[in-house]
Amino acid sequence: MDVAETQQSWIIEVKNLSVSFGEKQVLKNINFKVNKAETLGIVGESGSGKSLTSLVIMSLLSPNATIHAGSEILFNHHNKTINLLSLSQEDIRKIRGNEIAMIFQEPMTSLNPSLRCGEQVEESILLHQKLSKKEAKEKVIRLFNKVKLPNPERIYKAYPHELSGGQKQRVMIAMAISCEPKLLIADEPTTALDVTVQKATLDLLKELQQEHQMSMIFISHDLGVIANVCEEVLVMFRGDVIEKGNVKSIFENPKENYTKGLIACRP
Ligand code: ADP
Ligand code: MG
Repeated sequence: MDVAETQQSWIIEVKNLSVSFGEKQVLKNINFKVNKAETLGIVGESGSGKSLTSLVIMSLLSPNATIHAGSEILFNHHNKTINLLSLSQEDIRKIRGNEIAMIFQEPMTSLNPSLRCGEQVEESILLHQKLSKKEAKEKVIRLFNKVKLPNPERIYKAYPHELSGGQKQRVMIAMAISCEPKLLIADEPTTALDVTVQKATLDLLKELQQEHQMSMIFISHDLGVIANVCEEVLVMFRGDVIEKGNVKSIFENPKENYTKGLIACRP
């Protein structure tokens, strides 16, 4: 039997991923796998390569980066293994924002300030789904309800600056899940939010992940947040994965001094 055609339990596998900017190697042979419906956390201090890892998966790396030969991002595309790094730009666009979606730390930079929130989500839906404008609008309202935005009709018409940080992040989450992605990458999704709003946003993400049985890569510099959301974790340090495994075991029995430090300095 063709191995690539069998039912696979994983959704994405990053293999031997190395990336440099000029002489400086910023990702050093990264390896990990995310299973279906599993949430993998990536933790590490600022500059350790967390965002770059997610940008490579999204094919959004800046053009001055070099991905080393031998790097692979294997994606389970309807039980066929494809290497995202060898796809054409056209094929990547079909997967990005459709099968793989991402939310970023700062929702303001991801939303267009001059377009109404509802229209932005609607545009993203119409890009990937064959719906009429009316159906797309109905879907936006349903999604806004789903992410628990108050008064979805008002939010639909609002411009981003009229919403709070937490509401903008919910609009971004609605956009990200609009295509029912198999994998959601959340890069520090609550870091820019008020502490009181952070927990509600995390709870929402967890709820959506479970309801849709999505796989998720959840990036944070805070191991406490990771432990709350994820089953598995990668600890990154200066472009290396220095420790990985079950979050609870790592919390109870960290092997690396760096990880012990992360645990000790939790707020
Ligand atoms: P993290 O998300 O863990 O804070 P990043 O993945 O953003 O870290 O960055 C990892 C390293 O790559 C940092 O040293 C950063 O300065 C470098 N880097 C990121 N993007 C670029 C770029 N476009 N050009 C040059 N260096 C970059
Ligand atoms: Mg980052």
